[in-house]
Amino acid sequence: MEDCIFCKIINKEIPSSIVYEDDKVLAFKDISPAAPIHILIVPKVHVANVEALDPQTVGCVADIHMASKKIAKLMGINEKGYRLITNSGTEAGQTVMHLHYHLIGGMTLGAKIY
Ligand code: 5GP
Ligand code: ZN
Repeated sequence: MEDCIFCKIINKEIPSSIVYEDDKVLAFKDISPAAPIHILIVPKVHVANVEALDPQTVGCVADIHMASKKIAKLMGINEKGYRLITNSGTEAGQTVMHLHYHLIGGMTLGAKIY
């Protein structure tokens, strides 16, 4: 998808700190981390957000969740715990319109979601 910053990161047209990659998913460090560990996990297929998922593309969510487990282990937080967040739409605070999950951890996050 032209003009999508995460598609450009996936295509290596824009540099990023990649922590994990497979044929379905790319994961890289957030440029503006909210916690000691803040990784963005994106499907290689362009889907705007949860709202844009359909029966053909929804499988990428399972791919992201399975990748999340591997990334949490790589980061050493699989047993301590971590949070996975996705924003869908502008009122939720989504700023990049390519589906992405924030994997956040490395500190005690507290019970509040926002
Ligand atoms: P959103 O607010 O859409 O859920 O999250 C977008 C995230 O992407 C933000 O946390 C922001 O810091 C991150 N981000 C935006 N542009 C870039 C970029 O060019 N590279 C990286 N690594 N992260 C980015
Ligand atoms: Zn994209």
